[in-house]
Amino acid sequence: MDCIFCKIINGDIPALKVYEDDLVLAFLDINPDTNGHTLIIPKKHFTDLDDIDLNTLTAINEVSKKLKKLLEEKLGCDGISLLQNNGLVQEVKHYHLHLKPCYKDKNSIETIKHHELISDPKEIYKKLK
Ligand code: 5GP
Ligand code: ZN
Repeated sequence: MDCIFCKIINGDIPALKVYEDDLVLAFLDINPDTNGHTLIIPKKHFTDLDDIDLNTLTAINEVSKKLKKLLEEKLGCDGISLLQNNGLVQEVKHYHLHLKPCYKDKNSIETIKHHELISDPKEIYKKLK
């Protein structure tokens, strides 16, 4: 199957992995909206919310709780949004849950892309290790 996230799971293309167990893998988004933007995916290919089973969904949610804490502790973010796209707005057709940290920025909160504020994911990865 020509699926980019299956290729990451199989090790065919690299990713900055921040969590892994038997069912689930989490890695930093290649084109982050905010610093620490993380994707949690099932190791088995499910397309979307209709396709995925509840057991795997629960496993992903459990990992989201762990990673929320990790991102707060290591990056000092001030809030985290969880997002999961389906259909037209889903670019990669392998189920994934976005974790998007946000940060207080003096008078405003970073919720949309400010390119000057986004670090190289490799630098963020070092902080999460
Ligand atoms: P979607 O719109 O499907 O919810 O979001 C897909 C996300 O996957 C995007 O944020 C995009 O930057 C990310 N992405 C796409 N290809 C790759 C890849 O090869 N590696 C990583 N780490 N992220 C990817
Ligand atoms: Zn896949």
